[in-house]
Amino acid sequence: MQDQYQQNIKENLSHIHQRMANACRIAGREESSVRLLLATKTVPPEGIRVAIDLGEQLVGENRMQEFAQKADALADLQYERHFIGHLQTNKVKDALKYVSCIQSVDRMDLVQKLDQRLQQEGRSMNIMVQVNTSFEESKFGMNPDDVFDFIKQLKQYDTLVVKGFMTIGLFADEAELVRPSYRRLKEIRDRAIVEGLISNNANELSMGMSGDLEVAIQEGATMVRVGTAIFGKRIYADSYYWPEEK
Ligand SMILES: *Cc1c(COP(=O)(O)O)cnc(C)c1O
Repeated sequence: MQDQYQQNIKENLSHIHQRMANACRIAGREESSVRLLLATKTVPPEGIRVAIDLGEQLVGENRMQEFAQKADALADLQYERHFIGHLQTNKVKDALKYVSCIQSVDRMDLVQKLDQRLQQEGRSMNIMVQVNTSFEESKFGMNPDDVFDFIKQLKQYDTLVVKGFMTIGLFADEAELVRPSYRRLKEIRDRAIVEGLISNNANELSMGMSGDLEVAIQEGATMVRVGTAIFGKRIYADSYYWPEEK
C-alpha cells in the first residue's frame, strides 16, 4: 500500500515533467523557464516528502494552518513554500513565518497588514498579485481593470517585492476554454513592465493546473501549480479551499 502510494507519485511526477517538457518544446521555450509547484492541499506530509525526495523543491498550500502543520512535520527537508490560497489578515503572522512568497495578494487591507508586520520584523517578502482573469467565475483575485492602480500603489511599500502575477483561470473541463484567462494575465504583466509600474524582474506568471498546464505554458507561464495529477483526487471539494464567502 505505502509502496504503491510512493510509486504512484513517482510515476505521476515523471509524467507531469514530460508534459511540461513537451509543452515547452512546442512553444519553443527552454524547459528551465517553467517551474513546477506542487499544490498539496489535503496531501499528507508523507506524500509531500516522497515528491521532495524525488527532487521537487516548490510547494504551495491554500490554508495557513494546514501549511504550518505540514511544514513542521517536514522541518528536516529543504524546500520552498509559497502561499496560494485566500489569505486572511489574521493569518499574516503565520504566513510570514512559514512562506517565502505569497502568490495571492489581491487587496489593499492585506497589503497594509503585511507591510505593518514586515516593518516590525524589519524585513521584506516576495509577493505576486492575484488577478481574477475569469471575471464572474471566481470571487478571488483583483479585477483586471484595477490591477494597474493597485501595483502603482504597491510601489510605496518597500517591504513587498513584487515577483509577478498569479491567476486561477476559469474552472473549465476543457483546457482550451481557459486560454483567454492566461493570455490576459500575460498581457497585464507585459503592460505593467512596459509602463514601468513594476521592475523587469517581476516577470513571474503563476498559472496552469493539472488539466491545462500545456495551455498555460504556451501562454507564457513561468510556474505551473499541479495537485491532482500528482497526488490523486482530493477528498474535499475545492470549494472548501475557495469558499463562496470571502
Ligand atoms: C488546488 C489548486 C491547484 C492545483 O489544482 P489541480 O487541478 O489539482 O492540479 C492550483 N492552484 C490553486 C490555487 C489551487 O488551489
